[in-house]
Amino acid sequence: MSYIATDIEKVFQSVELERQIRRLHRAVGNAVVDDKHVVFAAGSIQLINALVHALSPDANAASPPARVVATAPYYPIYRTQTKMFDGREYRWGGTTALWGNASRNPTDGFIEFVTSPNNPDAQLYKPVLGGSAAVTVDHAYYWPHFTHIPAPADEDVMVFTMSKPSGHAGSRFGWALIRDENVAKRANDYVQNSIMGASRDTQLRMLGIVKIMLANLHGKEDIFAFGHDVMRTRWRRLNAVVSRSRRISLQRMAPEYCTYFKRIREPSPAYAWVKCEMEEDDDCYEALLKSKIITRSGALFEASSRYTRLSLLKTDDDFEVLMERVTDLVNAENYDE
Ligand code: PMP
Repeated sequence: MSYIATDIEKVFQSVELERQIRRLHRAVGNAVVDDKHVVFAAGSIQLINALVHALSPDANAASPPARVVATAPYYPIYRTQTKMFDGREYRWGGTTALWGNASRNPTDGFIEFVTSPNNPDAQLYKPVLGGSAAVTVDHAYYWPHFTHIPAPADEDVMVFTMSKPSGHAGSRFGWALIRDENVAKRANDYVQNSIMGASRDTQLRMLGIVKIMLANLHGKEDIFAFGHDVMRTRWRRLNAVVSRSRRISLQRMAPEYCTYFKRIREPSPAYAWVKCEMEEDDDCYEALLKSKIITRSGALFEASSRYTRLSLLKTDDDFEVLMERVTDLVNAENYDE
């Protein structure tokens, strides 16, 4: 197996896989692909820095480094990866709360990361800076088993991954949809320089997976119908227990109309964003850990430590153990009425 795939322009990228990914987006209705370039990478994590590089001023340019920002709570790797490579081209600029929006402040030279649905709180967010800020929207969870799809996403720079729709996180495959040709070229150059193109073994495997997903859409083996069913049931069960608690609460999510299922669907988030309500539980992560519930502290997402993220993406067995522990935690609450 040589390095080269099939396209003369993008020598390391399978034309057939790109075609099937475009078909999948069209069939699911979660992204507008016709006016976008597609750039493959080793997971969407690699695309974070590829896109920061692609959207930053050239290292030789006279302009100051770009500032990379996100709104809290945000996926922490935007910060850790940008900080790791901080330099002449760009630097981590903190949360958008420090900068305000275009009506009050210049937005030139900003790169804003938005995650929609968000990791950790599963809400559909929009960019907040506005003006001339470049925006990268991470749509890792913008698939019908995790969220309703109100309309196809159509931002200038979007990131997707196979880690979430099919669960093949270990295969390491992500892609960006990019409107501007020059930005796509710079992102592509980054991936070529970094790893000489996404693994061809992985590309072949992804081709098989995307074809199977496509062949079964809306049928008996529809991966999204299956995934929605599992995730909605988990969310419903967790809510039923937590609704009896005064100690912890969850983010509110309402049923919404989904253009994929063509009906109102119940929420089915990948993560629960847990809030500890009692004064003494100011470190919610530690409070849950005492009940053997492992979460990720809100502090990592630059939010308050009163919050912590509970992942609902696990095996059925692990989810049952989680439910037992949450139930024990809630049952142990004892109030004098
Ligand atoms: N973006 C978000 C918002 C994520 O939650 C994750 C995985 N936790 C990633 C990107 C990384 O995905 P990948 O496996 O494609 O690198």
